[in-house]
Amino acid sequence: MHYGAHSTDALMFITHRPDLVFERGEGSWLYDHTGKKYLDFIQGWAVNCLGHCPPEIVQALGAQASRLINPSPAFYNGPMIELAGLLTANSCFERVFFANTGAEANEGAIKLARKWGRLHRDGAYEIITFGHGFHGRTLATMSASGKAGWDTLYHPQVSGFPKVPYNDIVAVDAQIGPKTVAVMLEPVQGEGGVIPAQLEFLKALRELTRQRGILLIVDEVQTGMGRTGKLFAHQQAEIEPDIMTLGKGIGGGVPLAALLARENVCCFEPGDQGGTYNGNPLMTAVGLAVIQRLLSPGFLDGVVARGEYLATQLRTLSARHGLAGERGAGLLRALVLDDERAPQIVQRALEGQPLGLLLNAPRPNLLRFMPALNVSEAEIDTMIGMLDALLAR
Ligand SMILES: *Cc1c(COP(=O)(O)O)cnc(C)c1O
Repeated sequence: MHYGAHSTDALMFITHRPDLVFERGEGSWLYDHTGKKYLDFIQGWAVNCLGHCPPEIVQALGAQASRLINPSPAFYNGPMIELAGLLTANSCFERVFFANTGAEANEGAIKLARKWGRLHRDGAYEIITFGHGFHGRTLATMSASGKAGWDTLYHPQVSGFPKVPYNDIVAVDAQIGPKTVAVMLEPVQGEGGVIPAQLEFLKALRELTRQRGILLIVDEVQTGMGRTGKLFAHQQAEIEPDIMTLGKGIGGGVPLAALLARENVCCFEPGDQGGTYNGNPLMTAVGLAVIQRLLSPGFLDGVVARGEYLATQLRTLSARHGLAGERGAGLLRALVLDDERAPQIVQRALEGQPLGLLLNAPRPNLLRFMPALNVSEAEIDTMIGMLDALLAR
C-alpha cells in the first residue's frame, strides 16, 4: 500500500501486514490512518503492560531524553542502578544485566550457564529445554526453542539443547546427564499456546535441579512483570530459580530486557558479556517508571481481579458457543475453539465496523488475550461483546 509519498514495498517482507497504518494509541485503544478505532487485546504481544502511551512512560522518556540519553555502557547511570535495585529487592536474585530484547537476555542466560558449567560442572554445557517452548529468534535461542520446523530452518542449529515434553518431570530426570548444566523453561508457554506449567511440576523441577547440582533458568520474558498477577510467574509456585530473563513488559513498549541471577551463579568476567545499549538510561528510566507502577499499592491485586474477571467471561462465552474452555494465568489467557477458525476470527475482528478489535491466534484453534495490565472491566466487556458477535456468525 501507499502511505503519503511512499510505498510499503520499501520494507523487507517478513510477515503479512494489513493495509493500515497505526498513528496514535491511548490506553487500550489504537487509531489508524483513517481515524478508525481499535480495541487492543494484543498490546504489542504482551509488551505494553500499562497500555498505549501511558503518562508515566511519556513523562519518563521526555525527562530522561532532555537530561542524558547515552553516557556509554562503560559508565554507571542513575536509572540503571535504581532499576537493578528495585528488581533485586523484589525478587530472589542478586544481580542484573540489562539487554534490549528477550532473545538477547536469553542468549546471556545461556552464556552464563555455559560459563558456570565450565567452572563448576566439568565443562557441562547442555541446557534441557521443552517441546513447543519459545525463547527468541537468534540462532541459539531458536535452537533452544521447540517450535516445529525451526530445527532445520537455519541449519546447522546451535547444539546442546535437548528437548523434553513440558510438564513431564520423569522425562527431565531421564535427560539429565554428565553434560547437563541447566534446565530452561517458560512458566507459561506463551507462543506455544498459553500452556501453564503445573505448579507441582515447577516445584519438582526446582527440587530435581538442586539435587542434581544443575541450574534452573526461567524465561519470564512474557510471564514476568505482573502478567500473571505476581510480579514474576515463578513466584506462583514459591520457587527460587537460579537465573531469570525478562523482556516485553519490563519496557512497557520500549526495547528493554534483563538477565537476573543469584550471586553464586554470577561468573562473568570483564569481556565475557556486554552490548552497546546495555543499561542505557533512556530505556532503564522507562523500566523504572513501569516497575514503580506495578509495585504501587493494589496494582497487582487489580491484575488478579481482572484476570479472574476475563477468565469468567471467557468461560461463559465458551459455554454459550459450545467451545472447549479457556486457560491461562492472570491477564495472559486463551480461549480454546472447537474448530480451526481462529485466524478468520482475528481477521474479521480487525475489519469490524465501526470498531476494530485486535486479537491473536497462536494456533488455528486458539485465541490469545494479552491486554494492558490496567485494562478496565468495561473494556473487557466490550471485547467479550464483540467476540460474542463474531463467534455467532
Ligand atoms: C517474546 C519472547 C521472547 C523473545 O523476545 P524478543 O524481545 O522478541 O527477542 C523470548 N521468550 C519468550 C517466552 C517470549 O515470549
